[in-house]
Amino acid sequence: MRRIAIVGAGQAGLQLALGLLAKGYQVTLTTNRTGEEIRNGKVMSSQCMFNTALQTERDLGINFWENECPAVEGIGLCVPDPQQPGEKLFNWSARLERYAQSVDQRVKMPVWMDTFVKRGGELVIKDVGLAELEELAASHDLVLLAAGKGEIVNLFARDTERTQFSTPQRALALTYVKGMTPVSPFSRVAFNLIPGVGEYFVFPSLTTSGPCEIMVFEGIPGGPMDCWQNIKTPEEHLRKSLEIVRQYLPWEAERCQNLTLTDDNGFLSGRFTPMVRRPVMTLPSGREVFGMADALVVNDPITGQGSNNAAKCSKVYLQAILAQGDQPFNRLWMEQTFEQYWSYARHVVSWTNSMLTPPPAHLLELLGAASQIPPLAAAITNAFDDPRQFAPWWFDAEQCRTFIQKMSQQAA
Ligand SMILES: Cc1cc2nc3c(=O)[nH]c(=O)nc-3n(C[C@H](O)[C@H](O)[C@H](O)COP(=O)(O)OP(=O)(O)OC[C@H]3O[C@@H](n4cnc5c(N)ncnc54)[C@H](O)[C@@H]3O)c2cc1C
Repeated sequence: MRRIAIVGAGQAGLQLALGLLAKGYQVTLTTNRTGEEIRNGKVMSSQCMFNTALQTERDLGINFWENECPAVEGIGLCVPDPQQPGEKLFNWSARLERYAQSVDQRVKMPVWMDTFVKRGGELVIKDVGLAELEELAASHDLVLLAAGKGEIVNLFARDTERTQFSTPQRALALTYVKGMTPVSPFSRVAFNLIPGVGEYFVFPSLTTSGPCEIMVFEGIPGGPMDCWQNIKTPEEHLRKSLEIVRQYLPWEAERCQNLTLTDDNGFLSGRFTPMVRRPVMTLPSGREVFGMADALVVNDPITGQGSNNAAKCSKVYLQAILAQGDQPFNRLWMEQTFEQYWSYARHVVSWTNSMLTPPPAHLLELLGAASQIPPLAAAITNAFDDPRQFAPWWFDAEQCRTFIQKMSQQAA
């Protein structure tokens, strides 16, 4: 029986571990926090996942929260008018063909870890460094590093050609709340793009105490929404979140009359640099370690794609491992497997990166036109499930105009 070691119990590592167990592989999962520590710790993400990624969980029978987690039924976009504070420049929303869902990773990962152990996996709690990677590589047929943003992933070389930025592009904050007024007639990711300041989006989720809403702040560095450095307590964090919403987005503030934090760990702030890394690391012994998901391709959360990517990456890797049968997992196989994932992920990277720089004229035209052309709003909304659909019209001014025309004819 082939022995596979996975480091990191996040969306990617756990999903792959459970997939491999189901196929009869012997799997060791080493991670640096227990399920209890995760459950009682701070929130980590807003983890909204769209249908294709959710389907990869359904396929493995690990969609345990599908019935209790609130559905995210659509996406809305609002741009406040910079000339007239309190007014909207444009505003639209559209339904997703299939719903999205966000299950707090503090809920999901501990249960998946228990499931992994119950199904016969070996779970080891340990902070993995080079020495531990060497041990795992000596005793397993393949070692996968799925350590997300953990320090250790810096052992993979940065891919300078595929990485666009050298500094963080947004100051990030999360605020998990109860008591927000829902939007009607359908629930959605309510996305607000505030020129020169940053982005704010909010959507329903399932947390440790039941349904909640997650407020996500993406502040342009040095701007007024880059304001979390001196905020230490949960109360201060909630107060600051409300202050921003009241200042820039009165229609969102209306929904926030009775907010409380879900719990004292329901907030987060920080920043990181979006990056692509080389997929294979050679250990001092000459053995190799293969990276996956955020360890190799980490995007800014502005487009809400990281967990989706992690789920899709684990599916690509699972199929490649199965297809390899008894053949060795050598560097060539690792590079080819990563390229297969990258042929998808590169579209997510270019689209996400395009949201981090000031939008070109054609994109403003596109987003504005969607408020007049419902099929265009629906096309943008549903491409969140598979961002390959944004090419070529998102990126090319000429193609963009042709697409707007086409959608406009469809509307007529
Ligand atoms: C503010 C914010 C909002 C987000 N919102 C969304 C969203 O709405 N939708 C979406 O799809 N994505 C979102 N994401 C991204 C998403 O959370 C990540 O992309 C996803 O969790 C990546 O999964 P992963 O398995 O690669 O890594 P992770 O989930 O980070 O898991 C890494 C695992 O490795 C472990 N680990 C780390 N270092 C070591 C070590 N040295 N030894 C042992 N174990 C180690 C960690 O404890 C953890 O278990 C958001 C991220 C942030 C920061």
